[in-house]
Amino acid sequence: MSWAFLDRMIFRTQSVQCRECHESLRGRRDKQFCDDSCRAKHHRKTNKPSPLIRQVEGILLKNRSILKELKQVIQTESRSDRLFQWLRRQGFDFNYHTHVEVLPDGRLAIMCFEEGYILDENGVKPWSAMKEPSLSPLPS
Ligand SMILES: [Zn+2]
Repeated sequence: MSWAFLDRMIFRTQSVQCRECHESLRGRRDKQFCDDSCRAKHHRKTNKPSPLIRQVEGILLKNRSILKELKQVIQTESRSDRLFQWLRRQGFDFNYHTHVEVLPDGRLAIMCFEEGYILDENGVKPWSAMKEPSLSPLPS
């Protein structure tokens, strides 16, 4: 086998550009980037979440932090209609949640990650406040 043959097999003969910085690449045929820095930059760019994903994520994280505060508010305010108004004033967005949990009594807890709230006829209660003895699972 000649070196020229090996060169064509293993090393590129045509100039190919780095996928990140577009510098000409030398070396192995399958090489796509100059170095790890260009590879990492390219990876970060191509895996960057879309504006919509970032927007929804921002809303969910804001909702979550408001629900955390709600657990403090409930120490001084327990009326569910007032808690509902409080959430709205804080800018809570009721259109966004991560999942729904079914409580033992059949009600639904609307969750933003590990925080949540429960709708009742007048407003809302924080999900954690539902872990009281009066709301423990019904006997079967
Ligand atoms: Zn590069």
